[in-house]
Amino acid sequence: MTSFTHHMPTRLIFGPGSIDRLSDEVASIRHRCLIVTGRRSARLSGLLETAQDALLSAQIESVLFDQVEPNPTLSTITDGAKLAQEKQIKWILGIGGGSALDAAKAIALTAANGSDIKEFVCGARPARPPLPLVVVPTTSGTGSEVTPYSVVTDPAECDKFGISNPHMFPRLAILDPELTTSMPEKVSVDTGLDALSHAVEALLSSLRSPFSDMYATEAIELVFKSLPSVREDGSFIPGRSSMQLAACLAGMAIADTRTLVPHALSYPITVFYDIPHGRACCLLLPAFLERLSDLDDEFVQARVAKIGGLLGNKDDAPDALRAFMESVGVAPRLGAYGVQDSEIERFAKQSTGKGHLGISPGEWSMEDLLDLYRRSL
Ligand code: NAP
Ligand code: FE
Repeated sequence: MTSFTHHMPTRLIFGPGSIDRLSDEVASIRHRCLIVTGRRSARLSGLLETAQDALLSAQIESVLFDQVEPNPTLSTITDGAKLAQEKQIKWILGIGGGSALDAAKAIALTAANGSDIKEFVCGARPARPPLPLVVVPTTSGTGSEVTPYSVVTDPAECDKFGISNPHMFPRLAILDPELTTSMPEKVSVDTGLDALSHAVEALLSSLRSPFSDMYATEAIELVFKSLPSVREDGSFIPGRSSMQLAACLAGMAIADTRTLVPHALSYPITVFYDIPHGRACCLLLPAFLERLSDLDDEFVQARVAKIGGLLGNKDDAPDALRAFMESVGVAPRLGAYGVQDSEIERFAKQSTGKGHLGISPGEWSMEDLLDLYRRSL
């Protein structure tokens, strides 16, 4: 074993009904809070009102920013950060899917530094830490509640960019599986496939650690067993709990390992074809595993076989993954979503400089990236 780092400073409160603890948990903060959430789902489910009531009973004044779209854009972050500065916000409560949580993180960083989000996307080091964050996830996928990352979308570049900052881990995450029961079947599946992609990529990252291996292995087992059950019955709380735990564990794994080539290549696919994030990542995974099986590297081959075994076929991991996707109603090839050969050359080109490549097994030239896309069509 070589050296590794492991860091997970987020306090977790997990379990059905745990949202009831929000008021007590934040009561000592006292300062004005910005609630950051999506445009519809938290209001429709009643969670937004529950959270606002919890803050009121803790005598905390709150301001609402409910303009976060799926795959939050730079301009949304700018709007949220402006509001946070105008209202002299001291901490942020993020409620919703990964998009709302990532927006909360990026707004927290931008507002604290009085700067433009684009600077951080371009790699500038912030002078100040982000505003403190408390988060309540309502999807089971990204694990954003336990990562130091925020992924933001730049439509002009047709790409998504990850910002990473060691202070961007939320202070507290309330993981209440009951809050995920309102997800429609498709959102449950798409987000669940993101958790699976994180876990698979974590097992193959050069930054893996004994902790990330443990979290990722458990996460794959949980997704394999529980995603079909929540797809069948969205109100099945044991299945929802398992998926919430799987997403969190896979998030803890990528907090150590970051994500690999499939995530990098998924970003333009999501922005250009509007394929949800988790589905887009997972569609690129079988071809990634196929290529890794061809590498002359015993460790990588053993890892690919382990992933296949966890998904029911240790002799053919790519096939096991495609079969699992089909079993949850997902067509496993990009072509089924209208992805065209004529576009992917541009996507491969814009992905060549990304940090995901250097921590993935093997070499990743422009031709290799193109080959991965083509095998996925
Ligand atoms: P999402 O974009 O947050 O949500 C997808 C859709 O589901 C939205 O329309 C949302 O509606 C709705 N929704 C959320 N929770 C719901 C619920 N309980 N009931 C009904 N509808 C619900 O999806 P996501 O997959 O969780 O997040 C994806 C984003 O996270 C991407 O931008 C991705 O790049 C990023 N990501 C971040 C990390 C990280 O470490 N930070 C890791 C992986 C991915 P509303 O908008 O109305 O709420
Ligand atoms: Fe992801």
